[in-house]
Amino acid sequence: MALIVQKYGGSSVCSTERIKKVAERIVATRAEGHDVVVVVSAMGDTTDELLQLAGDVAPLAPRRELDMLLTAGEPISGALTAMAVHALGAESCSLSGEQAGVITDGAHGRARILQVTPGRIRQALDRGAVVLVAGFQGVCRDSGEITTLGRGGSDTTAIALAAALKADVCEIYTDVDGVYTADPRLVPNARRLPRLTYEAMQEMAAAGARVLAQRSVHYARRHGVTVRVSSSFGTGPGTVICADAEAVGAEQPRVTGVAHDLSGARLTVTGVPGGAAAMAGVFRTLAEARVDLDTAVHHAGRGGGGQGGDLTLVLPGSDGPAALAALRASRRAIGYRDLGYDEEIGKVSLIGSGMRTHSGVIAMCCETLSAAGVNIAAISTAETRISVLCHSGQVPSAVRSLHEAFGLGRPTRGAGNCATSRNEPAEKVPA
Ligand code: ADP
Ligand code: ASP
Ligand code: MG
Repeated sequence: MALIVQKYGGSSVCSTERIKKVAERIVATRAEGHDVVVVVSAMGDTTDELLQLAGDVAPLAPRRELDMLLTAGEPISGALTAMAVHALGAESCSLSGEQAGVITDGAHGRARILQVTPGRIRQALDRGAVVLVAGFQGVCRDSGEITTLGRGGSDTTAIALAAALKADVCEIYTDVDGVYTADPRLVPNARRLPRLTYEAMQEMAAAGARVLAQRSVHYARRHGVTVRVSSSFGTGPGTVICADAEAVGAEQPRVTGVAHDLSGARLTVTGVPGGAAAMAGVFRTLAEARVDLDTAVHHAGRGGGGQGGDLTLVLPGSDGPAALAALRASRRAIGYRDLGYDEEIGKVSLIGSGMRTHSGVIAMCCETLSAAGVNIAAISTAETRISVLCHSGQVPSAVRSLHEAFGLGRPTRGAGNCATSRNEPAEKVPA
């Protein structure tokens, strides 16, 4: 008998019909004799709809109130799934994040899990119940306030519970049958990766492959939780994410995949006075507004350092209003000239290993994008990633052309189903 944590994302519980299907899978797992803890997301697009409501009422809502609102979504699917499980004859019990013992810091909207005290979960399991936990939420250790873990945070809830309960596996059920070499919605011949190391998955998630939330992979790696990503709509083997060294040699090509991210925005601060003080003022202002920065590039003014220059920043689009409000309020103190803001940007990243040491990879990346007519606004490289910034409208062709150029797709002739095709390493990286 194993202890299994399962997580069902929004699309898997988007309707009562889907909830009943999910309940069947849960009850089947229970019937095999396993203890089952299930984490659910809010139904369908509930979280986006709640955010829309908040935006209609107040463009810059207090983060605490946003958390009070957003944490309303998950308990609905938790309770409904518990009812559906009960209707199939199994005992069930739904819990909020707080009841499940998810203890966080106080950073509303992006809280970190500090500790999990799963006493109530264990009690319910001991009674023979299937436990349904509302994902994406916790309670602040110091203030007792309700918090959320950031978008996609139910993945983190599931992995944190799996770690705390020493579960045998954490099964993430979503609307694709595993992790692919690129978003299969954008690249039809993307290949499912049967196994991935934590490191490779972390890079994919950090670059925008939202199939797993970035923090959840970090948590899984730190606690050695084996994660399986598969579809709640089918029965395929999915993708196993673990630390297995053999998997690295056998499955991991030098280029793992292409990820993209359309959730960012570009903020340009023009006419920033020369010297480090004004630049520090910009970063301090953004830090105090709790804005996360992805990229920062400084362009010196034409007349040299003393003339100042422009600062181009990439940040999560959801932080845009807070960043603009904070910088506007500090304009006089910092002394910059103007602010520009653009949400129509996207980031496309090639993920793999040895990227920086193979300068040919960067060249091939740029040649490919140039041939595809993609204008590169900025480029950054790291050992495991090359990222380019471009207009959001050009992201699909950038992703497809890189995926093709680096030979990541399934072979076009005689290709079988994604879920069954062989995972041949792509070795097209030039020396
Ligand atoms: P859930 O609601 O189940 O949490 P998400 O929408 O958060 O699901 O994540 C699943 C989506 O991730 C897929 O529908 C797919 O479009 C997207 N995705 C992006 N990159 C990848 C990738 N490399 N492999 C698989 N799916 C990906
Ligand atoms: N409902 C939350 C979101 O949409 C959390 C999650 O689905 O993981 O981000
Ligand atoms: Mg998700």
